[in-house]
Amino acid sequence: MSKIYDVAIVGGGPAGLTAGLYAARAKMSAVIIEKGKWGGQASTTEELENYPGSIEHPTGPSVTERMKNQAEAFGAECMKAEVTGFDFSDKIKIVKLSKGEIQAKSVIFAAGAQPMLLGAKGELELRGKGVSYCATCDADFFTELEVVAIGGGDTAVEESIYLTRFAEKVTIVHRRDEFRAAKSIVEKAMKNDKINVIWNSVVEEIYGDGIVEGLKLKNIQTGEITDLKTDGVFVFVGTKPITETIKGFVEMDAKGYIVADEEMRTSVEGVFAAGDVRVKSLRQVITACADGAVAAVNAEKYIEKTFEHITLPDAKKEGGWI
Ligand code: NAP
Repeated sequence: MSKIYDVAIVGGGPAGLTAGLYAARAKMSAVIIEKGKWGGQASTTEELENYPGSIEHPTGPSVTERMKNQAEAFGAECMKAEVTGFDFSDKIKIVKLSKGEIQAKSVIFAAGAQPMLLGAKGELELRGKGVSYCATCDADFFTELEVVAIGGGDTAVEESIYLTRFAEKVTIVHRRDEFRAAKSIVEKAMKNDKINVIWNSVVEEIYGDGIVEGLKLKNIQTGEITDLKTDGVFVFVGTKPITETIKGFVEMDAKGYIVADEEMRTSVEGVFAAGDVRVKSLRQVITACADGAVAAVNAEKYIEKTFEHITLPDAKKEGGWI
């Protein structure tokens, strides 16, 4: 019989890695499953200056790599695999993978979020040909060139500052006349000579012959359409939760975020949600880590309560479920 983990953690970002650390430190057998990049979205951000203790080495890749190393050092197993679905009908939960499956007494779903598309004409055709969603991944391609960043949140403003390390000029296009990003980040951006802002404007079209050449912008106050030549477009218009695989298994809101209580419990007993997948007001690395810790502690309590008289896997064969 295959191994039954105490906890299967879906997602290897800050929430999942912290859940793995806490679970492993509580002597639970924990597997963290990640299909993409360890560290999740945080690993694609250069500056993590608001994560306490990271002032000396604040890059996303370095902080999240240390998180992974720490979880593994305490015994969490890190597995590269793609989760395709679940079976929560029994006390032992099944996490279905593209190859095989994992059995666990509890599941922590921490698959994170991904960038949203802008939805402008030409965006998909020119994706990877000058249209990017990740400054850390692609800024280097625009060394001494001009780029446009779309959006007005923390990501747009923070990543624009990072882009100035490479690009000659960064133009932020925002649909309103003020940013929603944190004031300290906005102040820093406004002092940067390489950054300028076009307010109250949306992108009508991204155009180019096989590679980005420019944008058609519409001023939403005047209706005027202008042309802006550029070498690259970075889209930072928000994120959406990666919850397709768990849709229909746990309660979610209309936007696909998982409803969980303060103990990270979802609508299914033994299934917890942590990090950006959850309905919450503040999506940051620190709140993802906090969620991961709370989820792991409550998974442990759930297992103690639910499985206390069972020694797995033999009890199942004897029909000895409580
Ligand atoms: P966000 O806060 O949702 O901001 C998205 C921005 O894109 C908003 O300014 C929005 O405009 C704009 N936008 C949305 N749809 C648009 C469209 N179709 N066309 C043009 N503009 C559009 O997303 P985010 O900046 O990616 O941040 C996501 C979460 O991560 C937030 O909770 C954020 O605080 C957090 N985060 C934190 C840090 C940090 O603390 N260092 C760094 C990055 C992200 P409006 O303002 O008009 O709505």
